[in-house]
Amino acid sequence: MMNDEIPDLDSFDDASLDAAFAALETSARDAAAGLGSEADVEAFRLKWLGRKQGRLNEVSSCWLKAAPVEAKKALGIRFNALKAVVDGLLEAALGSGPSNAALAAEAIDITLPGTQRLTGAEHPITRTLNEITRVFAALGYSVGVGPEVETDYYNFECMNFPPGHPARDTQDTLVVAGQERKPLRDRLLLRTHTSPVQMRTMEAQPPPVRIVIPGKVHRNDAADATHSPIFHQVEGLCVDTNITFSDLKGTLDHAMKALFGSSVKTRFFPSFFPFTEPSADVQISCIFCGGKGCRKCKNSGWIELLGCGMVDPAVFAFAAEKQPGYDPKKISGFAFGMGVERIAMMKYGISEIGSFYAGDMRFLGQFA
Ligand SMILES: [Zn+2]
Repeated sequence: MMNDEIPDLDSFDDASLDAAFAALETSARDAAAGLGSEADVEAFRLKWLGRKQGRLNEVSSCWLKAAPVEAKKALGIRFNALKAVVDGLLEAALGSGPSNAALAAEAIDITLPGTQRLTGAEHPITRTLNEITRVFAALGYSVGVGPEVETDYYNFECMNFPPGHPARDTQDTLVVAGQERKPLRDRLLLRTHTSPVQMRTMEAQPPPVRIVIPGKVHRNDAADATHSPIFHQVEGLCVDTNITFSDLKGTLDHAMKALFGSSVKTRFFPSFFPFTEPSADVQISCIFCGGKGCRKCKNSGWIELLGCGMVDPAVFAFAAEKQPGYDPKKISGFAFGMGVERIAMMKYGISEIGSFYAGDMRFLGQFA
């Protein structure tokens, strides 16, 4: 077979092959150098890589077939190298880029002000939650988390809420529907406090325990300026031998000073919670007036901030079912809980709890 560009090869030694392929490569490079329009590039592609009459195809059919067996490998290597060169030339011709006019049309005026990107920041609730957690982490507490959908057992029963306790009432608790056939303790609800994690932690590890539990809780409350059906709590639990009420007072006094400043004073008032005995409400001296009396503290000089108490032996008895180490004769402990929203509202002077959830960037941007 003869062709003006692809002459028959008479000899297949290395030198002859080198010369023949070099001539083809030069020819391809010359052709590619003059390519201008898209039509030129397409013509080049057809001439060199076309399926039927492309030159590479002809080289393959004329030379490779005619070559003696011992020369086929050397020829094949050179053929592949040539094909790579032609492919590269075509790619370069196709990708030679837009014209100067097109580039000018897309030019950017770098003297214009840039697009402002908003910096991400912690939500004020997350920030407050982390601040509280850090105070207790520095005292050696670890952080515990648990499910928001809980059983009646973990939310109420093991926390020493007797059957029929008003907190169980659907007025206060959001329960999962359609569970009337289940025993009361297995029925699911949205946890009303993070206390279930106290029991889950005690069931999972023997004493001593020092744990702080941040998380979201749910109550069937109507939303108003200071209430939301979903809010956040941080609870704490400390269990060890010889834990006394003075440990509780000292810990919370330190925590309040760490959160609100070293001049803050605390005082404890008797209270009641099913899971602690004795129980106390903790007040801090008003951070707005320093205790002199103002509108925020209703002129009392004190603000009520959290609940606490010594863990009720009945709660330890539930824990001891799985971890015998929680023997109320041998160990004791205290627990406390505070509302994160309430603390954030005080720290940042926010009067509407709804501002935290409205997603208004003008409000949230203040905390960036
Ligand atoms: Zn005040």
